[in-house]
This record gives sequence, C-alpha cells and structure tokens, in this order.
Amino acid sequence: GSIDNFMELNVSELNEHYVRLKEKYDEYKSQNLNLDMSRGKPCSEQLDLSRDMLDILKSDEDYRAKDGTDYLNYGGLDGIPEAKELFSQVLEVSTKEIIIGGNSSLNMMHDTIARAMLHGVYGGESPWGKLPVVKFLCPSPGYDRHFAICELFNIEMITVDMLSTGPDMDTIEKLVSEDDSIKGIWCVPKYSNPDGITYSDQTVDRLAQMNTKASDFRIFWDDAYTVHHLTEKADQLKNIFAACKSAGNPHRVLMYSSTSKITFPGSGIAMMAASEENLNFFRKQLSIQTIGPDKLNQLRHVRFLKDMDNLKVHMEKHAAIIKPKFSMVLNKLESELGRKNIASWNEPKGGYFISLNTLNGCARDVINMAAEVGVKLTKAGATYPYGKDPRDRNIRIAPTLPSIEELEKAIEVLCLCVQLVSIEKILSEK
Ligand code: PMP
Repeated sequence: GSIDNFMELNVSELNEHYVRLKEKYDEYKSQNLNLDMSRGKPCSEQLDLSRDMLDILKSDEDYRAKDGTDYLNYGGLDGIPEAKELFSQVLEVSTKEIIIGGNSSLNMMHDTIARAMLHGVYGGESPWGKLPVVKFLCPSPGYDRHFAICELFNIEMITVDMLSTGPDMDTIEKLVSEDDSIKGIWCVPKYSNPDGITYSDQTVDRLAQMNTKASDFRIFWDDAYTVHHLTEKADQLKNIFAACKSAGNPHRVLMYSSTSKITFPGSGIAMMAASEENLNFFRKQLSIQTIGPDKLNQLRHVRFLKDMDNLKVHMEKHAAIIKPKFSMVLNKLESELGRKNIASWNEPKGGYFISLNTLNGCARDVINMAAEVGVKLTKAGATYPYGKDPRDRNIRIAPTLPSIEELEKAIEVLCLCVQLVSIEKILSEK
C-alpha cells in the first residue's frame, strides 16, 4: 500500500517498513563506503576553474602597480588598490571602506573579536574582555566556526531562531534593547550557512535601525556567499552598510567576505568592509601585527577575476558544476522522504549547503547511523552554539565535494537512516 505518511501507519506497518529498510541499510554496510558530506569544500573540477590564476603573473611588468609600486617588495598595509577596486564593488562599498587582507575571512573575524576583547572597538568605552560578561546573538542553525570563536573567548552565546526572512527580529530587538552585555551578532546574510536563506530587506533595515543598549554593538556580517548563486535569478540582499548609515549607525556593521569559494579555499584573499573610522581604528592595530598582506596573491586574483562581469561568468561556471549535485540531493530527498512527514529541508538558491531537519530528537542518531556505514556528515549539533541543537533535528548536507555517483549513494544511506531512526522514534512514542 501507500507509505505516504509515516505518522498514519500502524505498528505492524511500521515494523514491516523497518525490516525492509534495515535490509537495505545492511547491504550498504558490506560496501565499505567512505563518503564525506561534512564540509563545504569545492570539488576538483571547481578548483580547476582557477588554475590559470597560478601562473598569471609572468613578466616584470606584471608585478607592478598602476602607479609603479613594486609588488615584489614590502609596502602597503591594507590591500592593493586594484583589489580594493574590484572587491568594493562586490560588497557595494567605496574603496575607502574596504581592507583586503590575507587568505582567510575567518581569520579576520577572529582577530576582530580578539582585538575587541583586548582593546575594545572604535567608540567603545571599555575592552570587552574587561567586562564581567560579554554575549553574542547567534542566529541558528548557523556557521559552527563563528560559534567556536565565541567559545574560545568565553563569549556567552544566545541562540536565536532563523525564520524564512532571516533571524527572528522580534526576539533580537527585545534582547539588544534590554541587555548592554550583548555586544554583537553573527550573520551570514546571503544564502546562509546552512539554511540558504537570504535576509529580507525588512530584516536588514531592522538590524540597522534597532536600538541597542550597548553603544558599541557590532553586526558581524559574514557575506561569504555573496556571489555564489545556483539559479539564474539571484537573491538580492539589501546593503546593510547603507542602511546603517541612513539609520545614523554607520559604525555598527563589520562586513566580511573572501574568495575561498571563488578561487582556492585556503589560498584566496579575504576582505573586510566598514566605516572609515572603524577601519582606521583597525589599521593602527594591524600595522603592529603585520607589515602587510600577500600583495602578489591579491594581484593574481585581480588579474584573473578582472571585473564584475567576468566574476559573474566565473561563478556561473561554478554553478554549472555544483547545481546538478544540489538537484540530485533535492530530488532524492523528495523521492525518499517527501510526503512521509518525517523531515523537511530547504531548496537553496545559492551557497554551499542543504539543511535537513528530522523529527525532533533524531538528528544525532541519524548521523551516527550513517557514519557506521562510512557516510560522514557534519557533526550532530554543530550548527548550534556549544554544539547543542536544542531540538536535535538539524543535519547540514554539503553536496559540493563528492562526485554525483558518490553523492547518490551517500544520500540514499542518509535517507535510509532518517527513515529507520524516525520509525524507532514513532514506535517508541506509540
Ligand atoms: N564564513 C562562512 C559562512 C563560511 O561558510 C566559511 C567557510 N567557507 C568561511 C566564513 C570561511 O571563509 P575563509 O576561508 O575566508 O576563512
């Protein structure tokens, strides 16, 4: 008969399904699979798209700036003008409002927080680390490495739910207006990690305008996936910096991005955009930390990516490679789990992840069960502060790295595990 809705099956029907699905699962056990859907890494075909960048600088002329500066030597603290020119367009800021750094935006975010703890932020009254308690708002599910930074610095994390429009603004507005120990919020505003949500214009405006009890409150705006579209109709994200300026809060937002998933992860270039006052404050500290970033890698990136039009074409090539992987995962989820009422998931229009929610209390068991047959998923709870998913239901799927064939197997295993664990759960509650 039809097995559309697991919730409507009786005990013996559920048991029948369980036995049938368990047999399939056991078959996979014998295959000694070794599949990894745990981290959002590009696949080798994607990396090949940027190979030509590696030897793009050849003659002496290629190492020189427009103004004659020799990029083979020391000089330049905050990024080469050519890179500021290109990436200020990506982040929709002026060339005075951007710093181009090293190979990692996460590194820049970490250092921003470390400096805020030690020295405070521009216009702030006290180093955050001198205060009895510092708290951050963490829209969740979110990016585990953001949360890890808070844990390292003993910043208390407050979980805020993600809605289809972005983080739950009613809750955020209330919290920040009442508690001056809340100093910041982590945001992945476009094609969010892992939900693939782009914040609505209203969410952006409310973040820019809200009254914060802490005068030195900062929005960490991690626009990591800003040009990483999967469809032709790209999501539009409202410019929060402009919104903050209009709201009279020009220093509230610190924006970050990188080319990690444009060129080479780990060997790309990272950037930070903010008010000139914020950046001048950072530059002083930066000048103690380093003589300057890797200008040659910045130059390679500019020569290779060229301009916004060419960047768009380059990103379309990425999309052409990974879109079939996303489609395959989504089709499989639909054919295996659709209408059974045991899971829900997003259909991202960009970014690197598909976020799957199981019945409450099932995600950890599903992830363990998949691991037992060699299918590795992001750790249970990883998408929540302190690694604790309060509903134990979120599973982050990263489809880009495996081949289509591997992915198909991995998702089949995942869907079997979701069904098996769900049946156990439903039976235990009958
Ligand atoms: N932010 C988000 C939201 C990410 O998913 C990632 C992983 N690519 C990063 C930052 C890390 O970026 P980077 O390589 O620039 O440190």
